Amino acid sequence: EKKIYLKGFRSWAEISRKRLRENVSLIYDFTGKDVFAVVKADAYGHGAVNVSKILTEIPEVKYLCVATAEEGKELRKAGIDRDILVLGGVLEDEIECFKRYNLVPVISDFQQLNTALKHSIKKVHLKFDTGMHRLGFLTQDVNTVLEKIKKLQVEGLMSHFPSADTDPEFTKKQILVFYSIVNTFQRAGFYPKYIHLQNSAGLVYNCDYCNAVRVGISIYGGKPADNFPVPVNTVMSVKAKVITVKRLKKGDTVSYGGTFKAPKDMDVAVVAFGYADGLPRELSNRGYFLFRDRKLKILGSVTMDMTIVDATGIEIKPMDAVTVIGKDNKNEIYFEDIAKMCSTIPYEIMCRISKRVKRVVV
Ligand code: PLP
Repeated sequence: EKKIYLKGFRSWAEISRKRLRENVSLIYDFTGKDVFAVVKADAYGHGAVNVSKILTEIPEVKYLCVATAEEGKELRKAGIDRDILVLGGVLEDEIECFKRYNLVPVISDFQQLNTALKHSIKKVHLKFDTGMHRLGFLTQDVNTVLEKIKKLQVEGLMSHFPSADTDPEFTKKQILVFYSIVNTFQRAGFYPKYIHLQNSAGLVYNCDYCNAVRVGISIYGGKPADNFPVPVNTVMSVKAKVITVKRLKKGDTVSYGGTFKAPKDMDVAVVAFGYADGLPRELSNRGYFLFRDRKLKILGSVTMDMTIVDATGIEIKPMDAVTVIGKDNKNEIYFEDIAKMCSTIPYEIMCRISKRVKRVVV
C-alpha cells in the first residue's frame, strides 16, 4: 500500500479508501443485505465527511447513520446527499435541523412520535426495545404505536442487540421478539421498506426477515469478536513523528513520576503522540510503536503530547515517522490489541484519536 509522509503535521491518520470499500463489499457479500453504514462519532474517529464521501460511491450503502442531528448537518453541509438516519431520535429543539437538512429520525417513544407528528416530519424509522433497554418503544405498546402512525411514512423498523458478541441465547430471543413486531405491523397493513436489526457482532445470526444491516465497527475493519467470519481489514493507520532522540545513562528515570528506570545505558526517541492525541495512558510502560518492523517499547508515562520509546540499537532520527496503530510492513498493531491492554473496546480507542491528528484519505 501507498506510503505517505505528511509535511508540517506531527501526526496523522491514514484512512484507506481501498480497505473501507473492500470491507463494505465483504459485508454485503456475506449478508446479501442493504448496508446502513454507521458514521456517528466522526465515523468512529475516521472522519465522517471523508468516510461518507467514499461510502456514497457504493450503491449498496443505502443509509448513513449518525447519532445526532448536528452530525447529520455536518454531512449535508459537506454535500453528502445519501439518506441520513439519526439513531438518537428527535428532540423538540432539533426540529429545524431535521427539516432543513432532510434528516430521518429514529422514533423511539411516544414523545418523539408526537414531536414528529406535530412538526409534520413524515418519513421515520421506528425502533422497538427488544432487550437493550436504552431506546425503543416497549414491545407491549405495539398496538398503541400502530394506532398513531397513520399520518407517517414508516420507512423502517429496527431494534438493537446489546450482547450479540457474548450472549447468543439472549440475542436469538431478540430476533424472535422483533420478528413478532414486524409481523404485527404487516398484519396491520404496514410493510416498511427496511427491516434492520443486526450490528456487526450480529452478522453471525440468521435474520432472514431483515433486509438491511446497520454496521459500524466492521466497516472500519474492527472485529467485534475473535471468531468474526468476515475478513475485514483495519482502515485507519496512525503515524507520528520523532521529535528528538537522546542517550540515557544506567539509572536514569523517564517521564512524569519516573516510573521507568534505565537498567543500562540506552537510546530513546521522543515521539509526538500523547494522551491528548488519543493514546491511552494505560499504555505507559506497556505499549509499543512500530518502526521498520521493530517494536519500540513505551518507557515511563505517556504524556499529553509526547511519548518516550526505547530506540536502543535502532537507527532513528528526528522527523522519522513511527506507527502508533496499524500496519507497518509485516507487523500490525490492532485497535483490538490496544483495547485489550486498556480493558476497553476498540470502539473507544478509535473514537479517542483526537482532532489534532490529521486525517488523510490514502
Ligand atoms: N446500531 C445502533 C443503534 C448503534 O448504536 C450502533 C453502534 O453503536 C450500531 C448500529 C453499529 O454497531 P457496530 O459498530 O457494533 O456495528
